[in-house]
Amino acid sequence: MIAQQWSKVSKELRQELGESSYKSWIEPLELVGVENGVARLRAPSRFVGDWVKRNYHDKIVARLRLDHADLSQLEFAVETGSAQRPAKAAPMVAEPGTILESAPLETRYTFDNFVVGKPNELAYAAAKRVAEGGPVTFNPLFLYGGVGLGKTHLMHAIAHEMQRTRPELQVLYLSAEQFMYRFVQALRDRQIMDFKSLFRSVDVLMVDDVQFISGKDSTQEEFFHTFNALVDQNKQVIISADRAPGEIKDLEERITSRMQSGLVVDLHPTNYELRLGILHRKAATFAETLGPVRVGDGVFEFLAHRITNNVRVLEGALQRLFAFSNLIGQEITLDMAQDCLSDLLRSSDRRVTVEEIQRKVSEHFNIRLSDMLGPKRARNIARPRQIAMYLAKDLTSRSLPEIGRRFGGRDHTTILYGVRKVEELLVTDNQLAEDVDLLRRLLQS
Ligand code: ADP
Ligand code: MG
Repeated sequence: MIAQQWSKVSKELRQELGESSYKSWIEPLELVGVENGVARLRAPSRFVGDWVKRNYHDKIVARLRLDHADLSQLEFAVETGSAQRPAKAAPMVAEPGTILESAPLETRYTFDNFVVGKPNELAYAAAKRVAEGGPVTFNPLFLYGGVGLGKTHLMHAIAHEMQRTRPELQVLYLSAEQFMYRFVQALRDRQIMDFKSLFRSVDVLMVDDVQFISGKDSTQEEFFHTFNALVDQNKQVIISADRAPGEIKDLEERITSRMQSGLVVDLHPTNYELRLGILHRKAATFAETLGPVRVGDGVFEFLAHRITNNVRVLEGALQRLFAFSNLIGQEITLDMAQDCLSDLLRSSDRRVTVEEIQRKVSEHFNIRLSDMLGPKRARNIARPRQIAMYLAKDLTSRSLPEIGRRFGGRDHTTILYGVRKVEELLVTDNQLAEDVDLLRRLLQS
């Protein structure tokens, strides 16, 4: 029963992932049982288990769920003892011929799934162009940018596109870490000549996160020669790093300049519009696996405002909300988002200054900043001033006397009075409560 279910799932995954990923990661697994929402699988090594968990968790869960509706998690046990089967997995063993195997590609990382906005349009266009092939124009293509901005996604997208349009091409994608690993293994197993000739025989070489080899001298050296040999033969080379070539520490000058000789493009930090676009797209994809989930007004906007560091975190946040909402069978609301993601939201909190608060509040109520700080006591000025005092107390770590000084040298008791007044009004005056809520969100975004 269990064995049948697993054989069905693994057949589907073979279709989806392709032969080499299937052989490396799925075939060596065995489904042992499903209980209390957890599916237990046996893996030949921790490495394989971790890899599968990181890369295929959702795919496997989604499929097993057809037979086990409450399934939400996979657990991997490693085979031990004398009953151990021969390790079939380990894709990086240095048997001749397997040195060359590409690292698994994530099927989701396609051009179609990549949301384009101002910050990444150049990188996207360059990647597309390189994927189309034709006369080699950008060689090497060097993509760089901060964590989680889509470098790996674009590289996989190039590989997918090339495999689709020109399956005869030998496309090799791997991380710089894997490059090093294979190089070291080849050295150890005295297969360095195989290593060299195999690497030089590919049509397209992609090396991800190349900053990893900085300071690793012999790996750098080998990389440099491989790289030169390929570019000299007009074979496309694509490299990514977390910073510009010239900023990678302990990377030899000749490598740096060689990498700068093609096209260097960076992925800029995301902006609000791009984050919003990504959220909408991801929500649609999640809904395909989890079923429809209702998302309340303002939730996407709130997330796009508040989670600004990287797309992976944004994606994780959305996934968590979907899972939670799915679990309790309710729509995703702003309150739920705030509760469920409090850890993420706190870490991306920005420090707000008293001056910023004064400026935003003046703008909101359409009064002059000089009036906010000056002595006028008319209600239409005094009230916004008190709101600014309240927000200053609430959103900054300034003491009352410090806040007083920043409000034109007022006494701390005046500030305290203002803060108390607004606290009272928040309960009775809906309009004011809305204004304060809006201002708070604006200031924290
Ligand atoms: P990097 O390699 O730059 O650290 P990744 O390519 O691994 O980043 O991206 C992190 C996650 O964010 C991936 O799941 C990726 O699909 C997603 N992502 C990043 N940028 C975009 C984008 N523009 N559109 C859709 N998904 C994106
Ligand atoms: Mg990456």
